[in-house]
Amino acid sequence: MFIPSRARTPTISTALKLATIVIGFVACADGNAPSVEPVTITGIVPNVGTAYGGTPITITGSGFRPGSTVRIGAETLNEVHVVSATEITAVTGPENVDTVDVVVTSGRQVATLPGAFAFLLPFTAESVTPATGSTDGSTIVTVTGRNFVPGMTIAFGAAPPRGVQFVSPTTINAVALAQPSGTVDVRLASPIASVVLARAFAFVDPRIARDSALTQRYADRFGEDVPVPAVHNALACNNSSHLTTTAYIDHSGNSSTLMWMYTTADGATVTRSWTDRFLKPAGTIRVLLLVVGYAQTMSESAFAGWSDAQAAINGDHAAYASGKGFAAPIVIFENTNVFIDATEVADPRTPEGVAAALATRNVSTEGYDLVAAVNIEPGRGEGGFAIPWIAPGFMYIGNFSGWAAPLTASAQTSIARALYHHEVAHHWGWPGTHDWACSTEAYNFRVPPRLLGWEDVDHDGVPEILDPTPYGRTASP
Ligand SMILES: [Zn+2]
Repeated sequence: MFIPSRARTPTISTALKLATIVIGFVACADGNAPSVEPVTITGIVPNVGTAYGGTPITITGSGFRPGSTVRIGAETLNEVHVVSATEITAVTGPENVDTVDVVVTSGRQVATLPGAFAFLLPFTAESVTPATGSTDGSTIVTVTGRNFVPGMTIAFGAAPPRGVQFVSPTTINAVALAQPSGTVDVRLASPIASVVLARAFAFVDPRIARDSALTQRYADRFGEDVPVPAVHNALACNNSSHLTTTAYIDHSGNSSTLMWMYTTADGATVTRSWTDRFLKPAGTIRVLLLVVGYAQTMSESAFAGWSDAQAAINGDHAAYASGKGFAAPIVIFENTNVFIDATEVADPRTPEGVAAALATRNVSTEGYDLVAAVNIEPGRGEGGFAIPWIAPGFMYIGNFSGWAAPLTASAQTSIARALYHHEVAHHWGWPGTHDWACSTEAYNFRVPPRLLGWEDVDHDGVPEILDPTPYGRTASP
């Protein structure tokens, strides 16, 4: 066995070692080095303690013998207990704040572990700034106090401790990770002390503060009570950085009053607002359609597939409702299609022209919520439009894709979506600017469903547009 030794003692067998000790005692008298097991120090636990002293420590090593002494820094310790040849326990005494050597002396042998122990002052903590942060996490807080040291930890509430960024003995920084809303204790720990700042930090849901600001804006602008508004975050939009918030309040008949605003992220500042009466985006919506016939595009045989495209729209609403856990679709279109050849339609682009064409078939627009013309005129590229605020509301769809052949099923689906998921949305209050949300955001319905009242934003199990106490109201409007 080879033992590396500070005392350069030769390797010896146990039997020989016992013999040597006897000789060694004799040899001491004349100053020759005794051949005994060398003293070594391999570690000290803990390796930090308060400068006031009183920290129990355990030193490990080899060659410890009864009567060994321990010195940490300048101080030779009073309370030393040699547990075994490999372990000494002791209690530190007071010392200056410093990193010092640990020295064990056993007989005439001395072992030193340089810089092995640090004397620290217990820290104190005074403040946490800011004292509130988002439940989403990532709030950087600064804690001030005294005698901070590197390697400290911080814990917010019941969260596990995490390391801090040591800035100076009076300042540390830390990150408050995501937690549910509430006020929590902040627990700081160094290797020699821990401090609890009771209820020093509050996690706040930014949506609660924002919604509270928006509720105030609804009251200011419209005089309406909207405790939990529907909000869509369009802040990331390239050309329209705002929050969009909407509320439909009036549920009488097939119309409702829509209020909408664009605001800053915190809901404090309104950049645009509007209120008007619109078609209610719920219930059975009766649509009367003039489908203009063209042999080249909307032939009679192509028209036979049109009702399938309309059925798919109702299918979209049914799928949305079941996806949200609602018992029934929020919107159902009840369609009446009237096919008239283009040669018999003088003007498909105005409510009056369409009503006149329908009258030739003895069909009245009375009792319908919406009247529409589907006019896929070959060789004439044009979009669609909506005219709300008249009764019935009017919509037009032109040949927006330049179709020049009998319409396929997918072409008819495309036309139906433009009509029912876009133009109808204008009758529900979607402004012509189309900037309630980013155009790049993909929605089945072109408009974020929550902005049409189709989501249960106040969590009472009913989508707001059908809710007798919409948007968190406690009483019916
Ligand atoms: Zn539009």
